[in-house]
Amino acid sequence: MFTVNEAWAALEPHLMPLATTLVSRSQSCGRVLSDDLNATLDVPPSDVSAMDGFAIPQGLILNGDLNAAIGPTIAAGQAPGLALSNLVADSGPPVIPRIMTGAPVPADCDRVVPVELANVNVSRDRVTFPQASSTTSGQHIRRQGEVSRIGSPLMRSGQQVTSATTSLLATHGLDRIPVHRNPSVAYATTGSEIVGPEATPAPGQIRDSHSTFFHAALTGLGLQATGLGIVEDDRDALRRVVQEGLKSDVLLLSGGVSMGEFDLVEDMLKDQGCELLFDSVAIQPGKPVVAAVHKEGLVFGLPGNPASAQITFWLFVEPALRKLRGETAAPWSNGLTAILEAPLPGAHGRDRFLPCALRVDSGQLRATPKPPRGSHDVLAYGVANGLVRIPQHQEPKHAGATCSVRFIN
Ligand code: AMP
Ligand code: MG
Repeated sequence: MFTVNEAWAALEPHLMPLATTLVSRSQSCGRVLSDDLNATLDVPPSDVSAMDGFAIPQGLILNGDLNAAIGPTIAAGQAPGLALSNLVADSGPPVIPRIMTGAPVPADCDRVVPVELANVNVSRDRVTFPQASSTTSGQHIRRQGEVSRIGSPLMRSGQQVTSATTSLLATHGLDRIPVHRNPSVAYATTGSEIVGPEATPAPGQIRDSHSTFFHAALTGLGLQATGLGIVEDDRDALRRVVQEGLKSDVLLLSGGVSMGEFDLVEDMLKDQGCELLFDSVAIQPGKPVVAAVHKEGLVFGLPGNPASAQITFWLFVEPALRKLRGETAAPWSNGLTAILEAPLPGAHGRDRFLPCALRVDSGQLRATPKPPRGSHDVLAYGVANGLVRIPQHQEPKHAGATCSVRFIN
């Protein structure tokens, strides 16, 4: 039986990022770049004002005595390349133009004084500057290209697109974004006793709680998922579904991986040419989890009990899917440290995963473990917003101690 780390080590060589595809900017959030991106223009595109205020002619000394006429207003959107000397007569008292944030600074001005530092006499169209407003050359001017120069690197291959990145892409007019392809995922649930959630179960039957979970978890990751339905514990039926599912990059099967008479998944995967990477991991719940590879992709056989299917999904399937689309991920790499608000039981040779209530209080993450009745306890896991991980040989802990948690979403 592998530990979590050993199982991941067996899986990881098969998780190389998928090939490049181009997506639109609006579809790119969350995706991982498969190529470098360079600036398509200078940002800012010219020297512009950082404030609403007055553009001060080069060499003009601002002292308390200066009483200037207010010149024309330079607005954002005006073409750069203006010179004050073209805007106002060069004889007579100094004329100082108003300038708005983002407007081009005239070539012969070298500073901007914010309007809140000037004394404006609106009725007489005059402005004076208290001593305190005296500024140094260059102040409140954003220089052309100071954020990025045309052709300079913006982002590197391997970086993930965030919502803020999409704004950067928009600034540069980039709309065909090279990213790693998303894995296609198919899922099926096995079990002759399983009926759809819309059905009224006959005696002995139970509703399928996995297909909806897979759909929600996969679409939550932004992936397209194809449901292949419920398969009876019958070799021919299972073979048909596995053959169909192997056409996807990743096939998820649930149920049928334990030691029971009707647990056919492992044999069927071998029969279909898959190479098993592991078929049991030291975790509780979820021990019988299976991972296999074939020429075109990966298969996970997740145990049938609802908590087992969910935990093995979060622990192995989710990080595997993230790696395939170029993210850096590993089991529990999204783990956080929380303070226990109630005692935590120990583990006995397997990493345990308990549902918990997570909350943030005064900036600290706090966890209340809610030990379930077992891996069939859909209620405990269904209402939890987090999971606690109890490492393999950890002793029980008291409230106030720390533990490792992750959010469930
Ligand atoms: P198995 O791993 O197939 O032996 O299933 C273990 C337990 O999980 C059994 O009690 C199954 O009835 C239950 N189970 C399997 N698949 C599902 C499912 N899709 N939804 C709800 N329970 C399931
Ligand atoms: Mg079964």
